[in-house]
Amino acid sequence: MRRFASRVGVVEVYDTEPTPSALAEMVRETGHLGRRFRPAFLWAFGRALPYVAVWASDGEVPDLTPRRPGTEDDLAGLWLAEIRTHACGACGARFRGVNPDGALAFRSRRGSPAHRRVDACPACESRSARLGFLVLLGPA
Ligand SMILES: [Zn+2]
Repeated sequence: MRRFASRVGVVEVYDTEPTPSALAEMVRETGHLGRRFRPAFLWAFGRALPYVAVWASDGEVPDLTPRRPGTEDDLAGLWLAEIRTHACGACGARFRGVNPDGALAFRSRRGSPAHRRVDACPACESRSARLGFLVLLGPA
């Protein structure tokens, strides 16, 4: 786990070490997705808020060993997202996914980072499902 200082609070991003139980859902749901998706806390308002830390697909994931605290520059392109359930706008099938709406986004120095969204519905294949997930986790 490595801590990063930022304007909005300290961000703690876990690598492969054991995580606190408050992050169990993040680990269970996203542990198979690889290094771009890591369980994280944002420490703000005296509380540890659980998130999925999502690194941009065109960027580098920084070293997450606790060698020294990171800075907000190290978080460039990172989104702190939540796991939500959305219904397909066409057929109503419900899915869980990593949801970027309301995500806390750290600006990339190179402009908008590459965070693609999954919009097509796996049930009806509609392109207008508007699921909007960063990654689809499964049926709800
Ligand atoms: Zn659908």
